[in-house]
Amino acid sequence: MTKELKFAQQLIDFIYESPTAFHAVSTVKNMLTNCGFRELKEASKWNLEKGGKFFVTKNDSAIAAFILGMGNIEECGFKIIGAHTDSPTFRIKPSPEMASEGSYIRLNTEVYGGPILNTWLDRPLGVAGRITVRSEDILFPETRLVNIKEPILIIPNLAIHMNREINKGVELNEQKDMLPLMAHINESFEKGNYLLNAIAEELNVDASTIIDFDLFLYEYEKGSIIGLNNEFISSGRLDDLAMVHAGIEALIRVPAVEATNVMIAFDNEEVGSRTKQGGDSQFLSNVLERIVISHGKGREDFFRALAKSFMISADLAHAVHPNIGDKHDPVHRPFLNKGPVIKISANQSYTTDSNSDAVYEEICKKANVPVQKFVNRSDLKGGSTIGPISSTHLDIRSVDLGNPILAMHSVRELAGVLDHTFITTSFEEFYKL
Ligand SMILES: [Zn+2]
Repeated sequence: MTKELKFAQQLIDFIYESPTAFHAVSTVKNMLTNCGFRELKEASKWNLEKGGKFFVTKNDSAIAAFILGMGNIEECGFKIIGAHTDSPTFRIKPSPEMASEGSYIRLNTEVYGGPILNTWLDRPLGVAGRITVRSEDILFPETRLVNIKEPILIIPNLAIHMNREINKGVELNEQKDMLPLMAHINESFEKGNYLLNAIAEELNVDASTIIDFDLFLYEYEKGSIIGLNNEFISSGRLDDLAMVHAGIEALIRVPAVEATNVMIAFDNEEVGSRTKQGGDSQFLSNVLERIVISHGKGREDFFRALAKSFMISADLAHAVHPNIGDKHDPVHRPFLNKGPVIKISANQSYTTDSNSDAVYEEICKKANVPVQKFVNRSDLKGGSTIGPISSTHLDIRSVDLGNPILAMHSVRELAGVLDHTFITTSFEEFYKL
């Protein structure tokens, strides 16, 4: 097995262990603690020494990890890579069980972010997330992660015989067509709280102590390497766990340098980032300022450090589709396995400008990594990222980029095996600077 293939397999394992943003943070925490990083609590005083390796989490669903630089922070600044932990999915509503036809039990859900709905049909689905249980301190209830590693749900399609037009495109209604089937009605359903009882059993807690939950659906099946020559990665949540994995790996691999290296993974990018753990928050800014303060320095030094800093906003890009190539710009045509893609947009939905583009292109050149560019077809409006949002909170030069994928926001996206090694190598080079 080539080292690229082995690394792609590690990404698949990482994603499999991270069915929700909460689990992604927990998986990242394990990787970091295994490599000597220490956890900081937001409520504690931070005593950080040069060369020290630390991380701090927010809401159990966002995480910032960093290695303190050996140089003077106001002179060396921060090198930051940002990505996001969340992916489009379905969130389970309170009191979710709904009977239908006097026989079926379905779960009431609402859509989280922008999934391609029809890709969720006929897939074995699992449930994972966080539950909040009663504790002594009312203000700080206890939370527990849960992952029911069983395919307990499915959203069945309608047979073609009942809709002969089905292959001409079907509008799917989130409330009516997308509710997952869980079971047949039985005695324990009649007693109520069917799902919560199953979760309580899984976690070995008393169901009556569960006060509330943040539970989501995920595709039960694990990702896989596919293609005649093992060139593709097929998996859910590549957007953006592939960039979380690449960033954390690069951070771990590079020992302390002069500047302070930071990897941050925000939550809630798929729903606009406007939460305390999202990109449109003070989370990153506060962490950076606290790092400066821990060196015994002041706000002036913080601003001096920002002026010397650089940020890579890492989120996936669109590769040219093999069947529908005309959706891309006629000139810039990113392909899988041809390297990371710098994203550029006149309306600034990406932060890249010629200065930050140049920085990353030079990094790739130094690391011997090929690099591609993405611009929208002029008559199509593309997506956005955490890049422009972070730059409105932090006065830092930044570039938007990410690996090319197909089928973004499908329950199963498609990436290139080589690209995962390419981008991680470029991130390492960035952290080494
Ligand atoms: Zn994304």
